[in-house]
Amino acid sequence: MVERAESESRKLLGRLRDTMANETAGQERLDQITHLTADSMGTEVCSIYLFRDEETLELCATQGLKPEAVHQTRMKLGEGLVGRVARTGKIVNTANAPSARGFRYMAETGEEIYSSFLGIPIQRLGEKLGVLVVQSKQAREFIADEIYALEVVAMVLAEMTELGAFVGEGAALRARHTEPVLLRGSTAQEGTAEGHVWLHEPRVVVTNLVGDDPARERARLLEAVENLRISVDQLLAGAVEDTEQVQVLEAYRMFANSKGWLRRMEENIDRGLSAEAAVEKEQSDVRARMSQANDPYLRERLQDLDDLSNRLLRILTGQGVQTGADLPESPILVARNIGPGELLEYGRKLKGIILEEGSVGSHAAIVARALAIPLVIHVKRIQNEALNGDHVMLDGDQGIVHLRPDDTVVTAFRDKMAMQAKAQERYASIRDKSAITLCGKTIRLDMNAGLMADLPSLESSGAEGVGLFRTELQFLVRSQMPKRNELAALYARVLDAAQGKRVVFRTLDIGSDKVLPYMQAQDEPNPALGWRAIRVGLDKPGVMRMQLQALLRAANGRPLSIMFPFVAQYEEYTAARAEVDKAIARESKLGHVLPEQLEIGAMLETPSLAFACKKFYEEVEFVSIGGNDLKQFFFAADRENERVRRRYDTLNVSFLTFLEDIVARCTATNTPLSFCGEDAGRPVEALCLAAIGLNALSMRPASIGPVKHLLRRCNLDDVRTVIHDARDAGEQSVRPAVMEYLRGLS
Ligand code: PEP
Ligand code: MG
Repeated sequence: MVERAESESRKLLGRLRDTMANETAGQERLDQITHLTADSMGTEVCSIYLFRDEETLELCATQGLKPEAVHQTRMKLGEGLVGRVARTGKIVNTANAPSARGFRYMAETGEEIYSSFLGIPIQRLGEKLGVLVVQSKQAREFIADEIYALEVVAMVLAEMTELGAFVGEGAALRARHTEPVLLRGSTAQEGTAEGHVWLHEPRVVVTNLVGDDPARERARLLEAVENLRISVDQLLAGAVEDTEQVQVLEAYRMFANSKGWLRRMEENIDRGLSAEAAVEKEQSDVRARMSQANDPYLRERLQDLDDLSNRLLRILTGQGVQTGADLPESPILVARNIGPGELLEYGRKLKGIILEEGSVGSHAAIVARALAIPLVIHVKRIQNEALNGDHVMLDGDQGIVHLRPDDTVVTAFRDKMAMQAKAQERYASIRDKSAITLCGKTIRLDMNAGLMADLPSLESSGAEGVGLFRTELQFLVRSQMPKRNELAALYARVLDAAQGKRVVFRTLDIGSDKVLPYMQAQDEPNPALGWRAIRVGLDKPGVMRMQLQALLRAANGRPLSIMFPFVAQYEEYTAARAEVDKAIARESKLGHVLPEQLEIGAMLETPSLAFACKKFYEEVEFVSIGGNDLKQFFFAADRENERVRRRYDTLNVSFLTFLEDIVARCTATNTPLSFCGEDAGRPVEALCLAAIGLNALSMRPASIGPVKHLLRRCNLDDVRTVIHDARDAGEQSVRPAVMEYLRGLS
C-alpha cells in the first residue's frame, strides 16, 4: 500500500514537472495543476488560493468549482476553512466540511455539495503563500498518503511561486520580490542609508524538485550529510571549550547524526522528491513547528535544526558561498543575526544593516554603533522579502525599511537625506569651535570609542578627546583572550592617534550582556545585577593586572587616564586603585617608564555609589556617570528589554533631581564629573544635563555636531529655570517644557 502510494506520489510529481517545463502563462500552469491534482487524487475538486495581500486570499485556479468564481472569490485570513488553514498554517482534513468549525458557505463557488475537505497551507520556509484544497462528494477523511501527496504539490507550488512561475494579471498573481514593501523594526543605531541588499546568507533556491532516481538522490543526500557531519566536527575541534558556541555545535552534531532527521528526508526522496527538495520539505516542517513552539528552549533547538538544514542545502546545491568581491554598490547587509567579528570583517564598506533578530545591546549593535552604520533590528520577514541587489532605503532614526521603494518614497527619503547632509555641513562649520552657550559656559564634548576604527572620528567630529574608551570591544571581537603585548601595542596606537588628546581607558567591562566567547558564561538569573565589570576584575584579578600593565606600557611616559566600570561602593574603588599602585610598583621595578601623569576615575553606574561617603568623592580623581546602567537601576527597567526600555524618560524629574544631587556632591569636593551614557549624545538630553551642571559630556562621534549646535544656541540659565519650573509645577518629565522653550528660539 505504501509502495503504491509512493509511486503515485512520484507519478504525480513527474506529471507536475512536465507541466512546469511547458512555456505556458502563469494562469494556465495553475489551471493545469488543479486539473492534474484532482485527477491524480481522484477528487472532484482541486483549488488553489493565493494571497492577494497580507490579509486576503483569492481563488486563483480551480478544477470542479464554478470557473466564474476564479479571481472573484476572496476571503480574509481566518475566514472559512480555507482562511483557517492559512491563518494557522495547519492542515484541515474533514469528512463533513459543512459541519466543521468555521465553515463558510460561498454560493458563487457551488461548494455546498462537497463533503470532504482537505486543505494544505502553501508555505515556503515559514512564509505563508496560500492554500491548496481538494474536495470530494464522498464523505471520507483523507489518509496519510494522500495528505503527503498533496503536501508535496503544495511544496512544488511554493517553490514555483518563488521562482515566478505563476506570474499573471491581478494582485494574487503578481511577481514576487518586485513590489515596494515597508517593514518596521526598532532602531539600534540611528542614521539613514540608501543602497542595495546584500544577504549575509543568501537564500538557497531549489530549482530541481523532482527526483527520478531515488537511489541516486539518496546517495547524494547521504554524501551531503556525511560532509555536513565532517564540517561540524571540524568546527567543534576548533572551538573553545565551555563556550556557547560549543553548545550550539554540539546540538548541530546531535541533529546531524540523528537517525530520525535522515529517515524523514529519505522518505521524502522515496516519494519522489530530489535530495534538496527533501531537505527543504523537512526544513519547512521544522519551521512550521517552530512557529507553534512557545518553549524558548525548544525554539532554540528548532532554530539549530533550521541552521543545519541551510548548511545541508548549501552543500547540496553549491549555492550561497559568497566572496567579498561580489558586494553591490552601497551594500546594506540583511541577516537574521550577525556576530561582531563577522561585522567587523565587512567593516565600513556597509552603508546599513537590517537584522531580523538582534538586540540593542548586542555586540553586533555595539560594533555597528562604533562604525556609525545605521542599524535596524527586529525587522520581521526581511530575509524572505529581500533579494540580493534590491534597492533599499533604511531609516535608522525611525526603525523603518523601505524595500524596493517607489518614486514617491525615493524622493521623500532623498529629501530627508539631503536635509541631514545640510545639517552635517552646519556641524562641520562649527567643528573647530567650542560648545559655548549663550550664557558663556563652555561644555567639554568628548567622544566614546572602542575600536581603532573609531579614532579617525576624533579629528572629523571635533571631539576634545575620548571620554570613554570601551576596552572590552577588543576582547569581544576576538576568539581568544588577547595577549598583554598585543594590548599594549594597541593602546599605544590609540594614544598615538589621539595626538596628546585625553583618552579615558575604561578597564574591561564584561558580564551582563557582554559575554566573551572564550570565557565560561555564568549561569546567573539576573546577569545585569550579577558578576560583571569591576566585580570580575577584583575577584579574578589576573586579566585586570594584565590590562593595567598593558596600559602603563602603552603610555610609555605619556599621561594616562584609567576608569573602573560599575563601581558600586567606595571599597571597590580603593581595591582597584591598590591594583594600579601594585602595577606601577612592578613596572618601576622592571625599569619601565611610568606615565608622567596618572588619573584614576570611577564610573558611577549604580545609585549606591552616588550616596557613597564624602571620602570617596575626595579621593577619586574623576567620576563619569554611566547613564545607560545608572538609569536602568534607578528605574528598575532593563536596558535590554524592549518592553520597558523606553518607559521612563531620562528627563523624568526624579532622575534629573538625582543627577543634580551627584553634581552637588562632586562640586562640593571639586571632583571632575562627566556623563558618558548614550543620553549625552541626544541634543535635548545633553542640553538638560548641561543645564543641571554637567560640564563634560562624552558621546558617539556623530552626536558631537548636533549637540554642539544646540548648546551654542541656548542659555543654560533659562533652561535651568524651565526645568525647575516644570518640576515645581509637578510635571513628570521636563521634556514638554524644554521642547516648548526650544520652539521659542529664533
Ligand atoms: C553606561 O552604562 O552608561 C556606559 C557608558 O557603559 P556601557 O554602555 O558600556 O555599559
Ligand atoms: Mg555601563
